[in-house]
Amino acid sequence: MPPLETGKLSQKLLHWFAEEQRDLPWRKTSNPYFIWVSEVMLQQTQVQTVIPYYLRFIDRFPTVDSLAVADLNDVLKIWEGLGYYARARNLQKAAKIVSTELNSQVPEDYSGFRTLPGVGDYIAAAVQSIAFGRPIATVDGNVKRVLSRLFRINQPVNLTTAKNHFVEVAAEILDVKKPGDFNQAMMELGALICKPSIPVCDQCPVSTFCQAFEYKKTADFPKRNKRKQVPTYQIAVGVVLKNDRMLITLRKPEGLLGGLWEFPGGKTEEGESSEQACLREIKEETNLDIRVERSLAMIKHAYTHFKIVMEVFICQHVSGRVRLNGPVDHRWISFEQIKKYPFPKANHKVFSLLGSHLASERKIPVSE
Ligand code: SF4
Repeated sequence: MPPLETGKLSQKLLHWFAEEQRDLPWRKTSNPYFIWVSEVMLQQTQVQTVIPYYLRFIDRFPTVDSLAVADLNDVLKIWEGLGYYARARNLQKAAKIVSTELNSQVPEDYSGFRTLPGVGDYIAAAVQSIAFGRPIATVDGNVKRVLSRLFRINQPVNLTTAKNHFVEVAAEILDVKKPGDFNQAMMELGALICKPSIPVCDQCPVSTFCQAFEYKKTADFPKRNKRKQVPTYQIAVGVVLKNDRMLITLRKPEGLLGGLWEFPGGKTEEGESSEQACLREIKEETNLDIRVERSLAMIKHAYTHFKIVMEVFICQHVSGRVRLNGPVDHRWISFEQIKKYPFPKANHKVFSLLGSHLASERKIPVSE
């Protein structure tokens, strides 16, 4: 990195940030717990999506203690639809530690805070710099893109081993007197001006420092390694009806979608039809013998590292009592009770179809 007048860069960037920053609810508080919640939610998620979730979350759990003692089901219900549910589970685990072992005070030092569940390098740097003014640079996707262009960095932004290089560059230009504002300004610049496809260089406050702009190479940065193709899994699930109730099961608290409720089912094996997979999976997971009545829906959903194509069947309970193998709990519920339980987004896509089906069949009373 060539020598740079970091003071001038910071001055221009901070002036722009003061004038142009978006009006976001977590920027109106100095409460470290609120800032922590917002940063956890903002990982992997768009700002506009996060705003209503953030407001509902801090309204429902206004203190670290209230989050610590909450039922996990309630925490996941508020988080429902935001995805990456391990974030919510870890946030609550960390809140329990803060509440019971740290006198309800969010640690004011990087290394102490970094040891809490779910707190990685980024969250630790963001919360410590924004809430406590610690001089630690944050590096997220937006910041990497800005740095790549400012300094024509050839290392791919999606290469894990390049992360240290970006952290070092970010630390070199950090304004240690105003680290929280500087970090937020860099992220804001990436979000509003130095956009992924076409940067708005004529409105950029730091264009005079930008090498990619100077050499007309903005389209060549950031460098990125080609992504691997993500696999697609075929999934079969059953809405098992018995009298006026349907069966839902609870996933283990850890792992993907941990702690969420779902309709039982699983991956289709090679040579197996979706219907056969539905019968087999439900027998394996719940011990129930069922009859598949009809296919209700075919749902496509993309996760970070894979995609699913999920066929949902309407099934009737034939015989057997629930004995769980895999799921950790179950309920027989009415359609209206679905709202009380946190479900994965892919299941949500089924609800309206299911409501119409049940109303037309009059198998379960449905009020909406
Ligand atoms: S001049 Fe353009 S490419 Fe450079 S940092 Fe600003 S917006 Fe990004």
